[in-house]
Amino acid sequence: MDNPKRYVIAADMGTTSVKTLLVDRQGTVLHAHSEFYPMHTPSPEIAEQDPDRMLDAVLTGIGKLMQEATAEPEEILCVSFSAAMHSLMAVDEEGRPLTPLLTWADNRAAEHAAQLKRSELGPELFERTGTPIHPMSPLVKLLWLRERQPEIFQRAAKFIGIKEYVFFRLFGRYVVDHSTASATGLLHMHTLCWDSLALSTAGLGPERLSEPVPADHKEIGLPEWAALRTGLYADTPFVAGAADGPLANLGAGAVVPGSWALTVGTSGAVRTTVTAPLADPKGRLFCYALADGLWTVGGAINNGGIMFRWTRDVLATLEAEEGRRKGMDPYDYLTGLAHDVPPGCEGLVFLPFLLGERAPYWNSNARGVFFGLSMNHGKKHMIRAVMEGVVYRLHSVAAVLEELTGSGGEIRASGGFARSPLWRQMLADVLEKPVTVLDSVESSGVGAAYLGFWALGEFPDLAGIREWTRTAGAHEPDPNNREVYRELTGLYARLYQRLLPEFDAIAEFQAKQRSI
Ligand code: ADP
Repeated sequence: MDNPKRYVIAADMGTTSVKTLLVDRQGTVLHAHSEFYPMHTPSPEIAEQDPDRMLDAVLTGIGKLMQEATAEPEEILCVSFSAAMHSLMAVDEEGRPLTPLLTWADNRAAEHAAQLKRSELGPELFERTGTPIHPMSPLVKLLWLRERQPEIFQRAAKFIGIKEYVFFRLFGRYVVDHSTASATGLLHMHTLCWDSLALSTAGLGPERLSEPVPADHKEIGLPEWAALRTGLYADTPFVAGAADGPLANLGAGAVVPGSWALTVGTSGAVRTTVTAPLADPKGRLFCYALADGLWTVGGAINNGGIMFRWTRDVLATLEAEEGRRKGMDPYDYLTGLAHDVPPGCEGLVFLPFLLGERAPYWNSNARGVFFGLSMNHGKKHMIRAVMEGVVYRLHSVAAVLEELTGSGGEIRASGGFARSPLWRQMLADVLEKPVTVLDSVESSGVGAAYLGFWALGEFPDLAGIREWTRTAGAHEPDPNNREVYRELTGLYARLYQRLLPEFDAIAEFQAKQRSI
C-alpha cells in the first residue's frame, strides 16, 4: 500500500508574515497561505514584534493551509521551520516574555556595535562566529539590553529567538537549530557550540541560551490545544529546520560549489554554499550554517528593490501614474521606459545608498548619488540608472564572494526584481554569468520543505535537492555590453571610495538638521 504521508508543511516566519506551504514529494508547492503580523516601529531605531501574535499566526497559518488545501492529518509527514535571522527576546523562569521580540531591523544597539567593532574583540568574535558585528546581531543586542535594561537582563532566565519561543510553547523545550544559532554571533562556527568568548562578552552562561540542535532535530507531542487549532495529529513531527537566508539557497537549489543564489525583494542578498565554515578575513561577508555540513557565505544589501519602489513613488510618480492609467503594473511601465536607454545610461551612474549600506562596505553614512548627469539625460535615464545602480551594488558583493570562494558558474535569481526580464539581463551582463530564474519565488519556505523531506530520510543528502528545483528561464551575458559595464562598475567603485569622507560629512549635516 502507498505511504499516505506525502506532504511536508513548511512554516516560514518572515518579517511581515508567516507563510505556510504544502509541498509534495516532487517538490511542488500545492498550496500557500500567509498570515500577517505587524512590526512595531514607534521610532526609527525600534523594530519589535509580538511573539505571542507570531505563535498564533503559525498555528492559524497551518490550520488554514490544511483547510484550504483539504489536506488530511494522516497525509502530513512533518512541519518544517524557517525563520528570519537575528531575533532576540528575554523570557522568565516560566517562559513568559519579558520583552517583545527585537527583530533584525532593530537598530537600538548601533552604538554598541560601533564600539565592539572598533575594539580588538570585534574581529576576533567575527572570526569565531561568522556573524558580522552589527546592531542586528543578537550578541550586540544583548550588550545593549544589559546596559539599558539591566533589571530585565538580570531577571531573564533565557534569551531566545522567535522559533525557539514557538517550540518552547508547543513542546516545553528550548532548542535552537545550528543555522539560526550561527546567526546570533554567539555560536562557534567550527564546534557548533556556544562560543566562550562571545558568552563572556555578552555576560552570560550557556544555561541562559537554548540547546543547539541539528536542523533535522524533531519534536513530537503537540499538545491537544495546538493539534486542534492546526488540524494535525499530535504525533506529527515538528522539524527545527534552519534560518531563512541559508534556506533560500536550498530552495533555489544553490547547494553545490559555484552555484549562487541571488534574491532581491525589498533588500537583497547574494550567497553561495560551501562545505566548511569560512570567515572573510576582512569581515565583509557573513557565514551561516545551513545543515548537513553545508554553510552559506554571502552578503546582504539594504538598497535592493526598495530603490525601485522609491523610483516609482518619489522620482517617477508621473510616469508610474501614466502606467496605471494604461492599465499596467507601474513597475513594468517604468522598466519599459528604461529599456529604451542603452546600457550604461549614456554616462549616468547612480550610487543607491539611500539607506546607508551593509555588505561589503558596512557604512551607515553612505548616501545616494546621481553622477554624470548632463542635459541629454531624461527621466528614463534616471530610471534605468537606478536599476543598474542596484545591480552594481550586487556586483560589489559578488566580487568579494568571488575573491573568497572562486568564480560562480551560475546565478539563481528570485524575489520581486526577478520578475523583470530587463533587470535579469542587466544582472547577467554586469556579473558576466548566466542567470536562471526560479519557478517559485518563495525560496526560503520551499527550502524548509525540502529540509523536512531530508530530515525524514527521504533524501540521502541535501546537495541532491538541486535536481528538484525547477527553473523558469535563463539569460546569458551579452558580450556587446561587457566593456561598458566593466568600465562603469570600476567608476562606481572608485566613486564610492572617493566619496567616503563626504558621505560622513553629509550624514553629520543631516543628523544636525534633524535635531534642530
Ligand atoms: P519583499 O522583500 O517585500 O517580499 P518582493 O519580493 O515582493 O518584496 O519585491 C518587491 C520589489 O521587487 C519591489 O520593490 C520592486 O523593486 C521589485 N519588483 C516587483 N515587481 C517588479 C516588476 N514587475 N518589475 C521590476 N521590479 C519589480
